[in-house]
Amino acid sequence: MTLSLAPHVARVGLPGQGILIDGRWRTTESAWTHIHPATGEAIGEFPVASESDVDSAVRAARTAFDEGTWPRARATTRIKTLHRYAALLREHADELRALQALDNSVPLSFGGIYATSVEAAADVFEHHAGWIDKAGGETLPPYQGGDHLALTFREPLGVVAAILPWNAPFLLYAQKVAPALAAGCTVVVKPSEYATFTVLRMVELLHEAGLPDGVLNVVTGPGDPTGEALVTHPMVDKVSFTGSRAVGRRIVEASAGTLKRVSLELGGKSPTLVFPDAPDIGLAAMTTMGTVTMGLSGQACVAHTRALVHRDCYDEFLAAAAMLAGAITYGDPFDPTVLAAPLINPKQLDRVIGYIDRGKDSARLVIGGSKVDGVGNFVQPTIFADVDNTAELAQDEIFGPVLAVVPFGDEDEAIRLANATEYGLGAGIYTTDNRRAFRVARALRAGTVGINGFQVEPHLPFGGFKQSGLGREGGRSAFEAYTELKTVLMPLTDELM
Ligand code: NAD
Repeated sequence: MTLSLAPHVARVGLPGQGILIDGRWRTTESAWTHIHPATGEAIGEFPVASESDVDSAVRAARTAFDEGTWPRARATTRIKTLHRYAALLREHADELRALQALDNSVPLSFGGIYATSVEAAADVFEHHAGWIDKAGGETLPPYQGGDHLALTFREPLGVVAAILPWNAPFLLYAQKVAPALAAGCTVVVKPSEYATFTVLRMVELLHEAGLPDGVLNVVTGPGDPTGEALVTHPMVDKVSFTGSRAVGRRIVEASAGTLKRVSLELGGKSPTLVFPDAPDIGLAAMTTMGTVTMGLSGQACVAHTRALVHRDCYDEFLAAAAMLAGAITYGDPFDPTVLAAPLINPKQLDRVIGYIDRGKDSARLVIGGSKVDGVGNFVQPTIFADVDNTAELAQDEIFGPVLAVVPFGDEDEAIRLANATEYGLGAGIYTTDNRRAFRVARALRAGTVGINGFQVEPHLPFGGFKQSGLGREGGRSAFEAYTELKTVLMPLTDELM
């Protein structure tokens, strides 16, 4: 492909003012050059925050938490700020979608799909704004005797380090920043080095919405040194991380020194279970394959990359999945007919091609199986059939457009195969039998189970069983995860003694 995104860079403009500390944009000593995954061209530069830059950002957040107005603000102040911000996000949706295309090459055609859209991010801010005036506690009677009441309060947790992956910056930024700010915390955000410009612009807009200085700070740069400096900093109270399992483990280790609170949204190997009585086998196949190809080319935590298909509908499923795979278009993310993104960097491209090459020795290749010729990290949508559920194709999070199809004979076997994984993020069930749908949904060890469809929405808890994570984002439990519960014992006497 001989394509240059330079005209789009000139038209959209990159937010490159620096890192944000205590309301001021600062430059740093070194910079990161962003290489676009579809064109291989240098798109622009952003600062790399050193250990001492990160220290300044955390100290600003600490001071804003210990002494500032935000944690102590009236509910209406926080509610109005978050609502103003949601409106600004919606106003700037086209610009943000364009920036995302310049960052991670997610096509504009996909930027409008609800779960990963700017609109969903705005909804997340409004959803969490709704909890601010409902953050009540309980009033409890004495247990053993005595003349007192116990009152519980939800108080803001403190300084939050929010570390983001590259693949869905609108939603994943919102899922952390919105509940943290709603709860009255202060935040240091670290975007992924592969989706920085989008997040920098979202942070600029947050300041336009009137957030006080120091409440949200942003440090940019890679995992080492920027991320490491943040997760090991003793003044951080909580690390909220979305990303790979390997880095998630590192964050748990790094948090041990000061016993930081940790929430982790990690990877998955989510299964789709397709029964012969599915409402539409072809649609089930195309929906499953869609999560593995369209938009992010399988680089989505909850992509249903493992299809467990009953032998009675196996061939029909494969034919429909292959039809969709053959129709996927890739290339210029600004071309409205382009449906899929490239892999994010050459390292990930090599990793995925390695899985595909090894897979050819152990399973039946149905379609795809190669890098797309030309510039860019594009890989053909690929389907392997007759995969052994213990093989790496069925067990590892490949994070590319690769579907592993495993046959099964009955419901018990399907459940056993589905649960035979170290992950537990999502699952899909396709059947018209209501009793079976409910039975299987309860038996699956996964955070979100969709019956004849799958959706991520701001008010729904989302997260993983097993090694897919710790905690949940979305809904009340996410808001509460940015609070500490305090109990106050109140004597029931005329005067306090
Ligand atoms: P990644 O783990 O490589 O990077 C995530 C973030 O961590 C980046 O900002 C990176 O710079 C930072 N980082 C790297 N090393 C670090 C360190 N030692 N200390 C602190 N920070 C460090 O992940 P990625 O490639 O950006 O994203 C893909 C992964 O994210 C996949 O595994 C995917 O499943 C997962 N993910 C999960 C969810 C979910 O909600 N469960 C959503 C999206 C993505």
